[in-house]
Amino acid sequence: MIKSDFLVIGSGIAGLNFALQALEYGSVCLVTKKDAVESNTNFAQGGIAAVFSKTDSFNLHVRDTLKSGDGLCDKYAVEIMVKQAPDEIENLMALGATFDKDAKAGGLQLGQEGGHSRKRIVHRGDMTGAEIEKAMIENARRNGIRIFEKHVAFDLILKDGACIGARVFDVGKKRMVEFFAKAVAIATGGLCEIYENTSNPEIATGDGLAMGFRAGCDVEDIEFVQFHPTALRRKGKPFFLISEAVRGEGAKLVNDDGKRFVEELARRDEVSRAMFSELRNGTVYLDMTHIGKAFVKERFPTIYRTCLENGIDITKDRIPVEPVAHYTCGGLKTDIDGKTNVPGLYAFGEVACTGVHGANRLASNSLLESLVFSSRAAESAHAYNVGREIGFVNTRQMSVASDRPTELKTRLKSVMWKHAGIVRNEKDLIKALREISLMQAYMSKKEGVNEEIIEINNILLAARLVVSAALARTESRGCHFREDYPEKTEDWERHISLKRAGKGFLKL
Ligand SMILES: Cc1cc2nc3c(=O)[nH]c(=O)nc-3n(C[C@H](O)[C@H](O)[C@H](O)COP(=O)(O)OP(=O)(O)OC[C@H]3O[C@@H](n4cnc5c(N)ncnc54)[C@H](O)[C@@H]3O)c2cc1C
Repeated sequence: MIKSDFLVIGSGIAGLNFALQALEYGSVCLVTKKDAVESNTNFAQGGIAAVFSKTDSFNLHVRDTLKSGDGLCDKYAVEIMVKQAPDEIENLMALGATFDKDAKAGGLQLGQEGGHSRKRIVHRGDMTGAEIEKAMIENARRNGIRIFEKHVAFDLILKDGACIGARVFDVGKKRMVEFFAKAVAIATGGLCEIYENTSNPEIATGDGLAMGFRAGCDVEDIEFVQFHPTALRRKGKPFFLISEAVRGEGAKLVNDDGKRFVEELARRDEVSRAMFSELRNGTVYLDMTHIGKAFVKERFPTIYRTCLENGIDITKDRIPVEPVAHYTCGGLKTDIDGKTNVPGLYAFGEVACTGVHGANRLASNSLLESLVFSSRAAESAHAYNVGREIGFVNTRQMSVASDRPTELKTRLKSVMWKHAGIVRNEKDLIKALREISLMQAYMSKKEGVNEEIIEINNILLAARLVVSAALARTESRGCHFREDYPEKTEDWERHISLKRAGKGFLKL
């Protein structure tokens, strides 16, 4: 049994930022399911949106975010996020993260991405996330945050309705460990690993979403999964994302005949759908051969190198690209201070739904959202902790299972891609739901836990939540597209909240 004032689950930007700030108020334990660096954060290329340019304003950033969110953003939360952005960038620099500078104009070099009406993307080449992750982990280790790697959280511990800890599987020692804390924070990232084609690393299995939901948290806007239009398929390896920043610098999307078929900087959902239909007739390419070679190599070193390793010289060759599941707009419902509806339980980053993304996230707002709301949550969790003791209950011990039903994960990912992907309809969504039910029934007979069983149970529940909300929303809005209901309707200018009720759940 391990005790601390704060327990953080997840070592991406959201978990680490919270941990670093909470450390000012008490002891912090952080559990993370693989090596600390493994996170979506580490893969983020484009950068962080923040108003620094003289030609930009908070109002414009708010306006662009609301437009992308397609009627479902919480304007107050968006304003908070946008106004706090420059301070968060300064904080990152104080931690040692460095961003590209504009040699001519001075100050930070700002990139442009789809949906942004101004240049406002702060970046470090095309490896912004890795730069931030490195700086945060170094600070966390140096300042005495206890980081437990290869520790998979699988259930929250509740007492009198409040969260007082988590049960965690120690993969190395193959045993259960109980962590107790005054406040518990979920920062486990998104769920795009429920899809066959995804830009996300293997950790993105919706664990925190599933854990939070089982503990009684409301889940909101979960039907809105964002698909990124441009990823490179690699043999025997995960898809490699080609950042939108490339299109921001003038790259074109063309078909087999070399013809453009979509506005490159249109919203991601529009570009993804245009590609989805274009791909039925052939291949789609990203063409940046007209952009200067020296500039491409300097601005996009990781993309240049990775494509070259896959036989494509992007300064001479077009890149074949496909859309992939990329970002979870909805999640555990929180207020503007990261509080869920379960006392003592906080959530932030991609696992949370603060309301800033609405029906569709604006590019480069997610690292920003993670920073802003984890900072606010640290203050709020500290206030909750004052005068409180660390709780304790005896929990049921579980045996360690030897069974590893990984084939189920492969099956689910294929079902979700086929039946609940970019273009959805009632018939297919019902098929997906049936398949998920069968797989859940099979898993319910399994005894004991190990890391695979934990993950499979979580991705099945995460997938079920996505499909149920997608079925309920009988319209097309933001990144949710129903070919049987292709229009947006006023009636649906509202959120779908899912709430646990016994073994099933309620839609509100
Ligand atoms: C390829 C790619 C490019 C992107 N580019 C950008 C960009 O340019 N700008 C932008 O704003 N956003 C970008 N995003 C999105 C952004 O990276 C994420 O939304 C953001 O990093 C989420 O941060 P997080 O801390 O919430 O989660 P993550 O960074 O995903 O971290 C989650 C952490 O939780 C841990 N974890 C998960 N489950 C468990 C468990 N059961 N027990 C213990 N630990 C667990 C994981 O191991 C990980 O450490 C990109 C995403 C990808 C995949």
